[in-house]
Amino acid sequence: MSQNYKQIETKLIHSGEPEPRIQGAVSMPVFQSANFVYGGEERYHDIKYIRLNNTPNHAVLHQKLAALENADAALVTSSGMAAITTALLTVLSSGDHVLVQDCLYGGTHDFVTKDFADFGITYDFIDRDDVDAWKNKLRPNTKAIYVESMTNPLLQVADLQSVVRFAKENDLISLIDNTFPSPYNFRPAEWGFDVSLHSCTKYLNGHSDIVAGAAIGRGELIEKITHKLNHLGGTLDPHACFLLHRGMKTLAVRMKHQNESTLKIAQFLESHPAVSAVNYPGLESHPRHQRARELFDGFSGMLSFEIKGGIEAAQRFMDRTTLPINAPSLGGVETLLTRPATTSHSGMSAEDRAELGITDSLIRVSVGIESTEELIEDFERAL
Ligand SMILES: *Cc1c(COP(=O)(O)O)cnc(C)c1O
Repeated sequence: MSQNYKQIETKLIHSGEPEPRIQGAVSMPVFQSANFVYGGEERYHDIKYIRLNNTPNHAVLHQKLAALENADAALVTSSGMAAITTALLTVLSSGDHVLVQDCLYGGTHDFVTKDFADFGITYDFIDRDDVDAWKNKLRPNTKAIYVESMTNPLLQVADLQSVVRFAKENDLISLIDNTFPSPYNFRPAEWGFDVSLHSCTKYLNGHSDIVAGAAIGRGELIEKITHKLNHLGGTLDPHACFLLHRGMKTLAVRMKHQNESTLKIAQFLESHPAVSAVNYPGLESHPRHQRARELFDGFSGMLSFEIKGGIEAAQRFMDRTTLPINAPSLGGVETLLTRPATTSHSGMSAEDRAELGITDSLIRVSVGIESTEELIEDFERAL
């Protein structure tokens, strides 16, 4: 903690770790204790208790996550959605208005469109690139702007620098869901975002065995979000903290492999005659490739593509592959395939999906850490 580690590989291992090590333990022990002996704390939020997000297992994660994104502070939560909803309900209250990117993670989209009205919060969708149109949607009560670093499942990259500039000019709090790139590839605080949100279920934990979330950003905002979470109760249990901590240590080696492997797989797919389109920000053919290069250190492990021959051909490909698992979610060590029309975006009508560019035959791949060569062989056979 006292040391100033420079590179993310080193921070993942050493930032936030207790000094001296507890009883000499090289690995941070699990403090599976709900309450702690009263130590003279004067504020409710300082009393040591699991729900108040301040046990030793929380503290080490908070310091490590803040260090990873070069931000002031961080908070872990019981899921990505707990981080997103708690952060939004912290910066927005009854009577407020927010601008949100039009293509959002399904759970966030539902929360905005179905639950905001109950809280007296209004919103407008914004197009990721139509910066001039954002101004027209501003209202006197607009408080925040909410975007995602890469969209699911088309991997679009919004004009994130304009989002920050627009937020500063108009006194809005800027929030970004940074799950897809992970801190290894993108650190929103370095670009001026106020709050970065994560589903740690995905790359940060990386092993498909827990659900967790995080909010990372400006100190006073993270403190407010923490107090809100202390009331709402979406706390990460110490054992899940321990697993997240263990998983995170290998983020850099996993992500480095996934960045490289996914680019090779995307290039293979793009050159295959049976494939009609590949969406991956690392490809030169991606409409925002230059922007992605400027923003991101790598392009992450998510891609989507279309096979000629529609739904039947897509389904045949999914059935014929042998290595990937047909499952939703992403960011783990196993390669996963899904058709968003039947999973993440099945709640939407086919017309709404088509409007966003998500066809029923689109296949999304979360590339794991298997051999790139074997994955390509498997895909080639299946195509
Ligand atoms: C999975 C995901 C979430 C939600 O996270 P949970 O941990 O499932 O609650 C939010 N945003 C993005 C981009 C995700 O992929």
